[in-house]
Amino acid sequence: MDEDFLLNSETSKHLYHAYAKEMPVIDYHCHLPPDQIANDHQFENLTQAWLYGDHYKWRAMRANGIHESYCTGNKNDFEKLQKWAETVPYTLRNPLYHWTHLELQRYFDVHDILNANTAEKIYKECTAKLQTPAYSVCNLLRKMNVKVVCTTDDPVDSLEHHQRIKDDDFEIKIFPAFRPDKAMNIDDVGVFNAYVNKLEDVTNTSIDSLAGYLKALKQRHDFFATMGCTVSDHGLEQVYAEDYTDAEIENIFNSIRSGKSVTMQDNLKFRSAMLHIFAIWDHEKGWVQQYHLGALRNNNSRLLKHLGADTGWDSIGDFSQGKALSKFLGRLDQNNQLAKTILYNLNPSDNEVIATMVGNFNDGSVAGKIQFGSAWWFLDQKDGMNKQINALSNMGLLSRFVGMLTDSRSFLSYPRHEYFRRILCNLFGEEIENGELPDDIAWTGKIIQDICYHNASNYFNWKGQEQTVKLVTA
Ligand SMILES: [Zn+2]
Repeated sequence: MDEDFLLNSETSKHLYHAYAKEMPVIDYHCHLPPDQIANDHQFENLTQAWLYGDHYKWRAMRANGIHESYCTGNKNDFEKLQKWAETVPYTLRNPLYHWTHLELQRYFDVHDILNANTAEKIYKECTAKLQTPAYSVCNLLRKMNVKVVCTTDDPVDSLEHHQRIKDDDFEIKIFPAFRPDKAMNIDDVGVFNAYVNKLEDVTNTSIDSLAGYLKALKQRHDFFATMGCTVSDHGLEQVYAEDYTDAEIENIFNSIRSGKSVTMQDNLKFRSAMLHIFAIWDHEKGWVQQYHLGALRNNNSRLLKHLGADTGWDSIGDFSQGKALSKFLGRLDQNNQLAKTILYNLNPSDNEVIATMVGNFNDGSVAGKIQFGSAWWFLDQKDGMNKQINALSNMGLLSRFVGMLTDSRSFLSYPRHEYFRRILCNLFGEEIENGELPDDIAWTGKIIQDICYHNASNYFNWKGQEQTVKLVTA
């Protein structure tokens, strides 16, 4: 993992070092906690910055036979780090092995391999650094040349932390993203009604009809826009595109509000209606809508009960994606209500389905209007990235791709952009050297810089939001 890590040809190395490396980072979808940015949080030690909330690492530790008390339990922070360090040598060929050492190198200038023997030394060295001002979370973002971050926020979120970040004139733009998953999830009537009650409080309205519900949600959508939000995001097994009438949705809503659960068919109709309405709002405001499709979540009910969601009990689902996507996007397109859209899929067998689906709705109004999103979650690794890039290249325009994002909860995840860039440059470099692509380094370098940065900047209309970028000319 030296400076030419993952770069297998001279041209690949040149493309990476001369064109990709220095490009700023736009992280247009992640799960960073905005309160920690607003407070310019300082981590007390490496474990808190690195292992807290990281279900990727927990899964690896559990698979390695490490007791839960070292993952999410009550062992002290050094004991947890020690167990993670013992696990790392067993993660060979898992992306965690690469991520771990890239993160140690890039943030901490630590070039040792993490294992049981080096754990204490690395823990002490990184912890000492984390306690200095240079390692506050805002400085961690600066260190990685991040220009824009979009967090993930519920419509009922006050966005008070975003307001404080704005008031502080933080030069890195931190925008909220509108993620209304809970607003359309009626699986548990009690949970949904509590959510509606919360929405009433936040909007200072009383919601006694579907119209009132939509009005309150729209008020939040408008509010998010005033806070700089220009993206929405949805985490779904699949998009919902059932036929429905307004009267049916009104009846379903009233049933739920009176405490009655509804049939599976009505559940799907309600989700379909909500998803369609959110999409229309996104289009009206010129937002970008993102759909993360295909996760089968919360599979281990025993441990879910103890630890809650997002603690590592999710997997790739085998949902059918094509037909509903076609109907959902088609219905919007038909009425000229289709916003710029990014589709992420979690099942790699759907790569070509998604890559060809986006082509159906690119209407020439803007380059790359409908995007096949970056390899995500379980696919966020070398093989997954190569496959996503190849499917997109074969069936669409890789050159118009908005590129990488972290989708992470950790401030130490930004080397994932570097990882992606190395893979991208390697693919182009190797095909130039074997004669499949022209030996036009300047043009290829431009394409690479576009994918690393400019395409996202243009697509999200963030030109000028970030500081002027010095173009690399090599
Ligand atoms: Zn996400």
